[in-house]
Formats: sequence, C-alpha cells, structure tokens
Amino acid sequence: MAHIFCIANQKGGVGKTTTAVNLAAALAKIKQRVLLVDLDPQGNATMGSGVDKRALDVSIYDVLLETATIADARTVPESLRDAHAAYAVLGSNRELAGAEVELVQEDHREQRLKRALVAVDHDYDFVLIDSPPSLSILTLNGLCAAHGVIVPMQCEYFALEGLADLANTIKQVHAHLNPELRLIGLLRVMFDPRITLQQQVSEQLKQHYGDKVFDTIIPRNVRLAEAPSYGLPGVLFDASAKGSKAFLSFAEEMVRRIKTL
Ligand code: ATP
Ligand code: MG
Repeated sequence: MAHIFCIANQKGGVGKTTTAVNLAAALAKIKQRVLLVDLDPQGNATMGSGVDKRALDVSIYDVLLETATIADARTVPESLRDAHAAYAVLGSNRELAGAEVELVQEDHREQRLKRALVAVDHDYDFVLIDSPPSLSILTLNGLCAAHGVIVPMQCEYFALEGLADLANTIKQVHAHLNPELRLIGLLRVMFDPRITLQQQVSEQLKQHYGDKVFDTIIPRNVRLAEAPSYGLPGVLFDASAKGSKAFLSFAEEMVRRIKTL
C-alpha cells in the first residue's frame, strides 16, 4: 500500500512545488515507486517534472470529474527515465481551475482523488500530492486522499502564525472528513544559516513541534530555482548542488520515518 502525503501550506511561494518535485525524484533515485499528483492549476509540478502542461490530453481535471482514471492520465517522462529517477506524473493545467465550479453540484466532491487513487494504490510506495496555495476544494481533495501532511516552510517571523492556521485546518479535516490525516512533519526550506532570525525561528519550531520537525534542512540554493526551466527536478539537474544533496537526505529520512508511522 502506498504512503500518500499531501504537501501543503496555504501560503504562496513557500516551496511546496520544489519540495514535491525534488522529493519525488529523490525517492525514485533510491528505488521507491512514486506517483506525483499535481493538484495546482498553475501546473508547476507538471512542468518541473518535464511534462508539457499545454500538451496534456487527459489530466487530473478529468480524474476529478471522473471522465478518466489515473491509469489513463498518468505519464512517466522520458527525461526522468534517462536520469534513472523515473516517477509517474498526474499532470495539471489551467483547465483544473474550472473543476472547482463544476464540482459544486456533485456529491462527495472532496473525495474524488481519494476514490481514484484506490485503483493504483498498489503500484506505488509513495504518492505525493502538490497542492495550491489556498484552502480550496482542490486542496481538500489532497487532504482527504492523504495519510499525512508535509509542510514546507520558511523560517520567518510570520511562519508560526501561518502554521497555527494550517494546524487548525488539518484538525478540521481530521475530525470531519479524513480521520487518517495527520501532520507528518515540518520541513524547513530556503534556509540561510547566516540569518539570525531564521535560526531563532528554527529553534522556536523545534521547541513547539519537537520531532514533528524534520531533521533535514533544505538550504536556499539557486540551482533548485534554476532547474524547473530545464524541465528537471533539481536533484537530477545538478546532483552535486547542496540543495539537491539536502533533498536526497530528506528522501532517506522519509523512508526511515514511514517505518515508525
Ligand atoms: P505556490 O504557492 O505558488 O504553489 P510553492 O509553495 O509551490 O508556490 P515553489 O514554487 O516551490 O513554491 O517556490 C517558490 C520560488 O522559490 C520558486 O521560484 C522556486 O524556484 C524558489 N525556491 C524554492 N525552494 C528554493 C530553495 N531551496 N532555494 C532557492 N530557491 C528556491
Ligand atoms: Mg506550487
């Protein structure tokens, strides 16, 4: 059975997609079978994995509207195969923005992804879901389908406040929609150890959340930001970059952690 994790943070631009794409590639590199689900109409995880979002015949949109199965819609990019880190991508594009409106009338509209995943559950060790920066019906589909939430965050002044909101959302979903859902961990990203404030917030995080804070820290690293324009995850674009090495450590930490869940 796959471990299904939603990568979520309602704040924009905090590193959700970078985490989703690089964790997918790093897990694939260590021989885990991975499906990356792009639940964001921006399609950044799709493009960042080397899939052209404009050329998708079937996408997550069709899966949520139940006009296609995940088996129909997933694709494994050739570029990832060539890099020996093949993972499957369930791609997204702007069409997905319409799903929200179209699902309004439907029953169990927040459970669509969960239901669709049942059929492919045995094909994977990990299913990673990249979610948009909002609490929409799309994000809810991610949270309902998942066993746990991975929260990438920058160690900034308002980060703790944002976390309280997210923790509350997780609690609500846990209580009303998905009793399996729990916080897996907080991932410190875009970290710069030279900035005192970041170190302070990092310490506060550990005091408040204890071992819910992942040991691995993802540094700020320009190679991770450059990689998407080449249609490759950073860990494959430049494996020797310090950001890439950090994501490989993170994949190893995830594999260790799931044994204790
Ligand atoms: P959105 O909320 O819009 O979906 P997001 O949370 O998915 O955004 P990303 O797209 O992953 O955030 O990252 C935001 C920007 O920061 C991107 O330009 C990305 O390349 C850059 N970035 C992410 N992580 C790092 C890092 N560790 N070092 C340097 N740049 C990074
Ligand atoms: Mg994103």
